[in-house]
Amino acid sequence: MWKGKNFFRAAAVCLTCFLFVTAAGCGVEKTGGSVDGTGSAQADGFGDEASKTVYAMDTVMDLRAYGENAQQAVKDAETEIMRLDEMLSRGSEGSEIYNVNEGISSDVSDETAKLLDRALEICKDTGGAFDITVAPVMDLWGFYGQDYHVPVANEIRETLKSVDYTGVQLEGNTVLLRQNMRLDLGGIAKGYLSGRIMEIFQKDGVKSGIVSLGGNVQTLGTKTDGSKWNVAVQNPDLKNKDASFIGVIQTEDEAVVTSGSYQRYFEEDGVTYHHIIDPKTGYPANSGVVSVTIVSSDGTTADGLSTALFVKGLEGGSEYWRTHDGFEAVFVTEDGGIYVTDGLRDRFTSEYPFEWIKR
Ligand code: AMP
Ligand code: MG
Repeated sequence: MWKGKNFFRAAAVCLTCFLFVTAAGCGVEKTGGSVDGTGSAQADGFGDEASKTVYAMDTVMDLRAYGENAQQAVKDAETEIMRLDEMLSRGSEGSEIYNVNEGISSDVSDETAKLLDRALEICKDTGGAFDITVAPVMDLWGFYGQDYHVPVANEIRETLKSVDYTGVQLEGNTVLLRQNMRLDLGGIAKGYLSGRIMEIFQKDGVKSGIVSLGGNVQTLGTKTDGSKWNVAVQNPDLKNKDASFIGVIQTEDEAVVTSGSYQRYFEEDGVTYHHIIDPKTGYPANSGVVSVTIVSSDGTTADGLSTALFVKGLEGGSEYWRTHDGFEAVFVTEDGGIYVTDGLRDRFTSEYPFEWIKR
C-alpha cells in the first residue's frame, strides 16, 4: 500500500513538523492543516498576516508571513517555489537536473552549480551516508514510477554500481556523470528552498514568518510579540506515546527539518519499506531510528543532514554531531527513545523522558 504523494495530497495534516503559530503570541494555535488562499488578519503592530498553501515537489507547503508587505512576500515565495521546482526536480521535464540526468545538457546555472557543490560537500562530509546519486536505486524500488515493490538482491547489487557521489564531476557550471548515474536532490532541495523563501521574505521587508514544506520548517525572526517560534517534532507513531508530537523546539531564524521513515513508504507482505536509502546497501536505511530532526540556521544543511543522520542512526549521528558544528539534532529510535543534542538544552521540551547527547 503506497502512502506517498497521494497521502500528502489528501492529508495536509500529515506535515512532519507541526507548527504552533500564534501571531499575537498569546494562546497557541496548532496548524499543520491546509490554509487555502491568502488570508489577511491583523497581528500585533505588524500589520497584515498572509498565508498560503502550495503543492510542489510532491509536498504540501504552508507559507506564513506577518507585517507590512506580507501579501507580496507570500506571492513572491510562491513564484520562487515554482521556479525552483522547475529547476531542480529530476521529474520535471526540462529542469536542469533532468537535462543532466538524461544527457541533454551538462551545463547548469550558477545557482544549481552552487547547490550541487554544497550537496557534494555534505556527501563527502557524511562519508556517503548522504549521496545525491541515489536516483537509480530510488527508481528500482519504484519510488518514482509508482511501481512499488521489493527488488531482488541481484538487481540492487547491479544498480548500486551507479550510486557513488565521487563519480560526479562538477567543474564550474559543467556537471558530468558516470555512465548510468543520475542525480536526485530530493534530500536537500526543500531545505534550500525554505532558505530562499526566508531571503525573499526579508527582501520584501517581512521580519516575521514561518514556512513548512512537508518535514521542513524554517522560521524568520520571532513571532510578532517577540517570543520564539515553537516547532513541534511529530510523533512518528510510537506505540507507547499517544500525543501527536514528542517535543517542542523553540527557534528564531532557524530551520527545523525532520526525516522520518513514516513520511513515505509502502508495504509488501506485511513489511514496511521507506524512502531513505542507505547508499551502501541499496535498501531502506535500517539504522534503528524512526526520525531525525535537525536544527540549523541554514536550511540546506538541515535538510541534507536530516537524511544523512537518519542513515547513520543514533550512534553514528551523535558522533557526527560531536565532530561537526552548526547544527543540533533530535533522534527518535524504534524502541521509543528520544535523544537530544546538548545545544538544545535551553529550548527543547518534552512530556516524555529523553536523554541528552553530550559532546
Ligand atoms: P528527506 O525526506 O529529506 O530525508 O529526503 C528523502 C529523499 O531524498 C528521498 O525521497 C530521495 O529522493 C532522496 N534520498 C533517499 N535516500 C537518500 C540518501 N541516502 N542520500 C541522499 N538523498 C537520498
Ligand atoms: Mg533531507
